[in-house]
Amino acid sequence: MKLIYFGNEFKYDTEAVMKLFLPAERFEFCYCEDETEARKHCTGDYALIGRQSADNGTRLTVTASIGGRTESEYQDFPAPVSDDECKIQLSKELYLCMNRLTGISSKWGVLTGVRPVKQVHRLTDRGLDREQVFSELSDTFLVSGEKCRIAWDTAVTQRPLLEETARRGAKSFGLYVSIPFCPTRCSYCSFISMSAQGGAIKKLIPPYIENLCDEIRHTGKIAAELGLKADSVYFGGGTPTTLSAAQLTRIMDTLAESFDLSDIREYTIEAGRPDTVTAEKLEAIRKKGCTRVSINPQTLNDRVLENIGRSHTTGQFYEAFRTARAAGFDTINTDVIAGLPGDTADSFRATIDGLIALAPENITVHTLSVKRSSNLNMDDGKGGVFSNPASEMVEYANEKLSAAGYRPYYLYRQKNMVDNLENIGWAKPGHESIYNICIMEEVQTILAMGAVGSTKLMDLENGRLERIFNYKYPQDYNNNFGLMLKRKDRIREFYAEKE
Ligand code: SF4
Repeated sequence: MKLIYFGNEFKYDTEAVMKLFLPAERFEFCYCEDETEARKHCTGDYALIGRQSADNGTRLTVTASIGGRTESEYQDFPAPVSDDECKIQLSKELYLCMNRLTGISSKWGVLTGVRPVKQVHRLTDRGLDREQVFSELSDTFLVSGEKCRIAWDTAVTQRPLLEETARRGAKSFGLYVSIPFCPTRCSYCSFISMSAQGGAIKKLIPPYIENLCDEIRHTGKIAAELGLKADSVYFGGGTPTTLSAAQLTRIMDTLAESFDLSDIREYTIEAGRPDTVTAEKLEAIRKKGCTRVSINPQTLNDRVLENIGRSHTTGQFYEAFRTARAAGFDTINTDVIAGLPGDTADSFRATIDGLIALAPENITVHTLSVKRSSNLNMDDGKGGVFSNPASEMVEYANEKLSAAGYRPYYLYRQKNMVDNLENIGWAKPGHESIYNICIMEEVQTILAMGAVGSTKLMDLENGRLERIFNYKYPQDYNNNFGLMLKRKDRIREFYAEKE
């Protein structure tokens, strides 16, 4: 399908809208001088996206055509329209045309970005109240009432925690340690995580840990020189508990020796795969200061677990959960996924009910997102996605978790999510993950260590975010380690430029 532009080149925003309706489509882009030239390209399936500016105003116009059916929208403005406003208005017109042509709608309307809650904070910072925020979200971005409510409730939970983050100042930061290994690879996984089953990968782990500890020491030195202060620690993956108790202890000791952790609000280690959890590992990490673990069933249906290639059972999940409680963890997160292959609305409801009965402090409800690198394929062969009860599942989870006293505390969206839904972290009051909020709302520097880690340097005063990427794969991380350490020197320069 062709996307034809004149008077603008807002490819990023308009393509994102088109993907809501035609997720598997590959678009051809065509940029034209004026409408006359653009119209010449209007053959076959296309969307014509135009801005005409004249002395007496601006016209924003969209025409979309699929299979010979055509829909149009236009708006006239008496004055010039800013680029930002144009992007929103053209996205809206395109959405309305495509909605009429396909019958598909998205509850997030044209809010296609990763972080919809940011819009709520932006509007409340401007002094808008709940009702005004809802009107703005639904009128400007076509967001449904249900999604307005969840975005608003999430922002409300976050407010006091974000205020405390701001109070801690520009020198506080989150620490991220990446362990990109898993015991085996799940079929829906789009992460670069490597299965530690193979001998070659197993051999990579010891030098990886050596280098990781060096990187921790190196980064710790820079943080100390700059007077930076850790606010939270997060070990993510992969599955950090793929490592042994001794290996985890070694990394945690190095971290404690290298950074000032005296004032952290949280220390999380993902023990995501129940088949990696042992009492020895949990007791070791608890002793070293870990306060929050994540133990992820994804579903409480063994048949679905088999479908997605998770090599554990629900029995192992319950056992791992009990082990974590026995080790003294009073904040446990459990991840589930709505829309897994072979899962039904009834089975998902049973998963949510089962988790609520278990009463973990955090329940994170993801919606399946299938990327190209995943072993699953969401293409139905007709340019759409396979039908899936994910929306019904998410609605059930939202209702039940609210009623059980959980509050949404972070929310984000990814590309290729089934039904254009979202991921929501739910927490019992007082158990919200600071790290998750800060990374999602982009309000604090994150210093990341390990392969695939991405350091985010935040200069909130000037609205600047700069990333330093580590090598993605553990082999590259090990092989180019010196080069990678050098990149970290940018942290010094960044803070020097700020002062
Ligand atoms: S546990 Fe997570 S990171 Fe590891 S293979 Fe499965 S989905 Fe991927």
